[in-house]
Amino acid sequence: MHELSVTEHVLQLALKAADSRRILAIDLVVGSLSSFVDDSVQFYFEILGRETLAAGALLRFRRVSAQSTCLACQVVTPVDPPLPFACPACGSSQLRVSGGTEFYLASIEVEEL
Ligand SMILES: [Zn+2]
Repeated sequence: MHELSVTEHVLQLALKAADSRRILAIDLVVGSLSSFVDDSVQFYFEILGRETLAAGALLRFRRVSAQSTCLACQVVTPVDPPLPFACPACGSSQLRVSGGTEFYLASIEVEEL
């Protein structure tokens, strides 16, 4: 259900940015730790966008990784689920994970007039 509201939000943003031009493609950035499911977003998008200028637009998902910072040696590593229990550089288990939860509209492609 989470996807319905974010998809609606993305669609509104895209339509506003398109300024009455037909939308061909929408690029979305999705964090590797976010719970959003591409297929669900696609599903809602097709329903919500049906009667709009975004109908038939291609949704492109770009996954971005979270980052793990080792508190012992400061090495920063990109991580994807399942999260590591130890630093790949020094083996310490004191890791701080940040990022990876984003979900946003990166860009749109519109039809040239
Ligand atoms: Zn380390």
